[in-house]
Amino acid sequence: MLVMKFGGTSLGDAERIDTVVSLVRQRLAQRPVVVCSAHAGVTDLLLAGAHAAAAGRPDLSPIRDRETALLRALKLSPKLVDGDLERLDQMFRGLALLGELTPRSLDQVAAFGERMSVKAIAAVLRRRRIPATAVDADEAGLVTDGRFGRATPLPAAYPNLKRAIAKVKGVPVVTGFLGRDVDGNVTTLGRSGSDYTATILGRALSATEVEIWTDVSGVLTADPRIVPKAVPVEHLTYAEASELAYYGAKVIHPATIQPAVEKGIPVRILNTLDPAALGTVIRPGRGRRTQRVTSIASKRGIHLINILSGRMLGQSGFMAKVFDVFKVHDVAVDLIATSEVSITVSVDDTQDLPKVVKDLKAFGKVSVTADATLVAVIGERMKQASGLAGQVFNAIGEAGVPVLAISYGATKTNLQLVVPSSQERTVVRALHAVLFE
Ligand code: ADP
Ligand code: ASP
Ligand code: MG
Repeated sequence: MLVMKFGGTSLGDAERIDTVVSLVRQRLAQRPVVVCSAHAGVTDLLLAGAHAAAAGRPDLSPIRDRETALLRALKLSPKLVDGDLERLDQMFRGLALLGELTPRSLDQVAAFGERMSVKAIAAVLRRRRIPATAVDADEAGLVTDGRFGRATPLPAAYPNLKRAIAKVKGVPVVTGFLGRDVDGNVTTLGRSGSDYTATILGRALSATEVEIWTDVSGVLTADPRIVPKAVPVEHLTYAEASELAYYGAKVIHPATIQPAVEKGIPVRILNTLDPAALGTVIRPGRGRRTQRVTSIASKRGIHLINILSGRMLGQSGFMAKVFDVFKVHDVAVDLIATSEVSITVSVDDTQDLPKVVKDLKAFGKVSVTADATLVAVIGERMKQASGLAGQVFNAIGEAGVPVLAISYGATKTNLQLVVPSSQERTVVRALHAVLFE
């Protein structure tokens, strides 16, 4: 079996959807299971709609118009999604009455984009004589924990999905992004979560490969919106791909690689705009590639927290106590740098930051720098490359950018720098020039 995941842009208009149909047709012998995102822009419309509704302005029309126009362009009846639009309409009215929006209702609303897109794609496939059935992943047993907006699958999800997919007639067209917790609430796997659904299904079905179809020809050496000269990376290890995604390369959801690792399933990133392009393959082991660095990623919206504590830092157990604060508030730490008298950490989840800062004050003087960007230079062969750190710091020095924090771990597969967000582009471009051009 083969999992083929199509992102929002690949499902954004009738022409792109034509390409999707022919790609599925070409692979019928491999028994494809299709995973769909919402059509481009629909998730954003749903989230904006939910916020507006809770603020007393329920308005379904932007979503209805977008879906209806697309179905008409596909020569399908808009009635196909009437049931979903009706339920959404009721939810928006309910939110307006309540005047509040919980993470739980937000997930319930956000999930409609995928519920509608799978109906459209399955119908288009059937019209082109490819038997297909739309499947809602929550109904097919994708059970998750109850962390709304960033849920992860429970172990039972895998056997559940295997059983449910085996019963589906024709090509299963499965909703990405969504699941359901044990209490029956709809959950989502986080923005871009359909990538994660694809590898979850891949693991459940022991797929031969997971194809992620998007709008770029693979993982590139940097974000093409920052570095137009970025080029595709032919091969990445699981570790490199996970780090890239985690440190902000938007092309795959950060957790995507985990389920693939469990079964050693290759993940291929391919371009619906240029299906013949090689793309990037992510798998264990390495090809004949000799590059030391594979890619540069950057993550905005980072906060740096500095704890200055001359008294306690040398004491045993001090670090554990500090990190316990982050654990208690469920805030993930990205970068850690220590000195004799201080600890600096970077975090990107700022929701519970005030609570963290309050608790950290028990250990010393705490300061927070907002609006920073974490830039990560990634490559498993970096450890064999002498002089790399020097090259990186020279380039940044020449660009005249102040570095707020640095971390170059013992494994040396990842060099991280924190810079002011206003300098993100300058730094990424300077590093790309010195490392790749
Ligand atoms: P999809 O809708 O197919 O899921 P996304 O917009 O989520 O697509 O991801 C693809 C986009 O990720 C690209 O268009 C590109 O702008 C961005 N991107 C950021 N970093 C990278 C990178 N290193 N390589 C490729 N694309 C990247
Ligand atoms: N539709 C969701 C989003 O826009 C999930 C995805 O596209 O993968 O984030
Ligand atoms: Mg995506």
